[in-house]
Amino acid sequence: MKQLVCNEPGQFEMKQVSQPERKEGNALLKIKRIGICGTDLHAFEGTQPFFSYPRVLGHELSGEIVELDSAEGNFKVGEQVTFIPYYPCKECIACRNGKPNCCTNIQGAGVHIDGGMVDYLNVPQYALIHGQGMSYDELAMVEPMAIGAHAVRITEVKKDEFVLVTGAGPIGLGVMAFAKIAGAKVIAMDVQDNRLEFAKEQFGVDYVVNALNNPIETIKEITGGEMVTAIIDATGNKRAIEASLDYLAHGGRITMVGLQLEPFSFAHPEFHKRETTLRSSRNATRDDFDHVVDCMKSGKVNVNSLISHRAKFENMIEDFKTWLDPKTGVVKAIVSIND
Ligand SMILES: [Zn+2]
Ligand SMILES: [Zn+2]
Repeated sequence: MKQLVCNEPGQFEMKQVSQPERKEGNALLKIKRIGICGTDLHAFEGTQPFFSYPRVLGHELSGEIVELDSAEGNFKVGEQVTFIPYYPCKECIACRNGKPNCCTNIQGAGVHIDGGMVDYLNVPQYALIHGQGMSYDELAMVEPMAIGAHAVRITEVKKDEFVLVTGAGPIGLGVMAFAKIAGAKVIAMDVQDNRLEFAKEQFGVDYVVNALNNPIETIKEITGGEMVTAIIDATGNKRAIEASLDYLAHGGRITMVGLQLEPFSFAHPEFHKRETTLRSSRNATRDDFDHVVDCMKSGKVNVNSLISHRAKFENMIEDFKTWLDPKTGVVKAIVSIND
């Protein structure tokens, strides 16, 4: 079978390797779609923290079950599935406290261990997610959408409150979609008007604000002077993160989904006087995956509009390099394999 290895930053190699045998406790999947995400692009560029090479990338995946271990979970050979691609140890303090998404020994497919840029992949059966009635495209989008759903859930977004979502990339758009589903009045912020327009047209956000154009005044106007009660940051940008307190109401909360490498700071009196709640949001749990699947099936969220670029696995090496260039306008690139 084919296996695409990132040998070192900037270098992919398509290898011929033997098809893996199914391992105990695993299902063997024939991979059908690979979604390309910022993690993959950063890993290729060599800017992803805690990353080692060589590595097979790919964690936004869908496929067909070829072989199963047991009857656990009612899965069937031939069924289309996706899976939760971060495998917890089930023993550490986070796992014991019901937070496998931030397990101390987490093994992320395509990050800590080899991922899905292959024809066939072993996946722990407990990680599988049913996908009947869904397309392989949609199933490959469940994971990135679950990241947004998780952030919205742990932020405890309420009906009719103002939620500011900063960053209108694929993760931010997912956050916006699930904040809308939770009933919030969603304000999208970005520095690119075309991304804001897209958020309005395809994801029905209520307001858009360009961060380069008097954002504090605009948010004051939108919220009747009270500012927003929740901010979910999907920029992973230090300046955007540090500016967020300016938009936050007293008693408000900030959740950071995006990740960047630098220390950041807030003016302590500004942080204090609001009794600000600050937290990060990492990965997602089965509850979030199930919620995303339900919302996709019932048509509450339509992910197909996010797919801006497509490639075949055989040609992916060339196409991948073009996706690194922001000028190509990539929202989500999807790679087809075994199709
Ligand atoms: Zn991803
Ligand atoms: Zn653990």
